[in-house]
Amino acid sequence: MNPVVMKFGGTSVQDAAAMERSAAIVAGRLAQGKSPVVVVSAMAKVTDQLLRAAEAAAQGDRTGALAISSRLRIRHRDTAAEWVKNAEHRAALSDLIDEKFDALDDVLRGLAAILELTPRISDLIVSYGERISSRMVAAGFRERGIEAEHVDAREIIVTDSQFQKAVPLENIIEERVPAKLLPLVREGKVPVMGGFIASNEAGLTTTLGRGGSDLSGALVGGALPAGTIEIWTDVDGIMTADPRVCPDALRVRTISFEEAAELAYFGAKVLHPATILPAVKKNIPVLVLNSRNASCEGTRIISLAPHCKSPFKSIAVKKKLSIIDVVASRMLMTHGYLSQIFAIFDKHKCPVDMVSTSEVSVSLTVDSNNQLPAIAADLSKLADVKYEGKKALICMVGEDIRGQNGIAAQVFAAIRHINVRMISQGASEINMSFMIEEEDADEAVRSLHAAFFRDPDPAVFDVEARKAAISC
Ligand code: ADP
Ligand code: ASP
Ligand code: MG
Repeated sequence: MNPVVMKFGGTSVQDAAAMERSAAIVAGRLAQGKSPVVVVSAMAKVTDQLLRAAEAAAQGDRTGALAISSRLRIRHRDTAAEWVKNAEHRAALSDLIDEKFDALDDVLRGLAAILELTPRISDLIVSYGERISSRMVAAGFRERGIEAEHVDAREIIVTDSQFQKAVPLENIIEERVPAKLLPLVREGKVPVMGGFIASNEAGLTTTLGRGGSDLSGALVGGALPAGTIEIWTDVDGIMTADPRVCPDALRVRTISFEEAAELAYFGAKVLHPATILPAVKKNIPVLVLNSRNASCEGTRIISLAPHCKSPFKSIAVKKKLSIIDVVASRMLMTHGYLSQIFAIFDKHKCPVDMVSTSEVSVSLTVDSNNQLPAIAADLSKLADVKYEGKKALICMVGEDIRGQNGIAAQVFAAIRHINVRMISQGASEINMSFMIEEEDADEAVRSLHAAFFRDPDPAVFDVEARKAAISC
């Protein structure tokens, strides 16, 4: 037995052709004598659409909500018809899809009557994406000779009750995951479960936050434990920047857990920020791989990455941030003042990304959210408060940035045409971040990329892919 967790993201199950590619990848691992445990996301964009349906229903637009659900039902049924060829199995899957969408429609109708979308109802609604996709994937895998067995993730991934961003209860998961999955794996079966979804201790459906299927994969991998956790997505691995923003981004061959965690936290969407933790605890390598280019070796995330001659490994961007300036003429270094400020963020359960202080003011950056007016109202009891949205944080991650002379001068020279609002360096050895206007973010990433990845270390970056692209 050689368990490997294989998590397939939304694009890797977005239609029958993508599911076919994912099936071939799983069959390949079986042929290598490995024991795959498969975790799948909802089909691409389904979670967004379920959320739109929920919002429409909550605004009383029952027809609009049901129309979104109906389009999703058709998309799932059409995909199932193409993906599962056996008439009997196809009919059973189609009935199952109908049953789930009937239940979803009941929830949407109820919501359109009560007009109140609670986080708990939102989680119930979005859970249908993974609940259905995992059933579909399992059914099609069986037809292709993979002995897939569907497992309801909510039985084994248990969380607290913070709906929409629930925190995994690792002690329970550590017990339930091996108890449920290892007997199946021993029998030669391939468990297939939905990512992202979980339940609280009372059995109510929760979710792990957007992009949370990566975390489900890592939790399962940590609890089994697996030899490797594979994150199958639509890019060749962790790249030197988001390839959508910077088309000449290079694949990073190997990166440390610490560097990957920093990138994920500061916006590299390719990994959910909490994914690394369960892997670190058990020292399980995480591979980021491309389901459209399965022969590419991807990115290997391990505890100690080899030395890199280039100053940075990758550039991440976190958008939709706000800066809050708290200005008090008498605060100055007063004992306990900062703790009063942080207590307010704590009360609103609002994480702070960056802090800078001057003699009279404290500036903090947070995700833009609808609690900002309430936070500002509480802060204004201490001092004058201003907040401004549409900001972006650029985070440059690399080895020992703190120890490299002149690095800050090079970074700010590369973006001398862009106004920088806040800077943080030195808090971590491997991260240098700064805050700019959101509208400048893409341009800043491209300028930084051009400056720092002109002559990349071939031991760490896939420079051959760049050469091949230039020569064709
Ligand atoms: P999945 O649905 O497979 O979980 P995501 O859309 O969540 O995939 O993440 C993959 C996307 O992450 C890529 O398409 C890419 O645009 C984006 N991305 C952002 N930063 C990076 C980066 N540094 N390296 C690779 N991809 C990145
Ligand atoms: N389907 C969820 C989302 O879109 C979880 C995931 O794909 O990881 O956020
Ligand atoms: Mg993702």
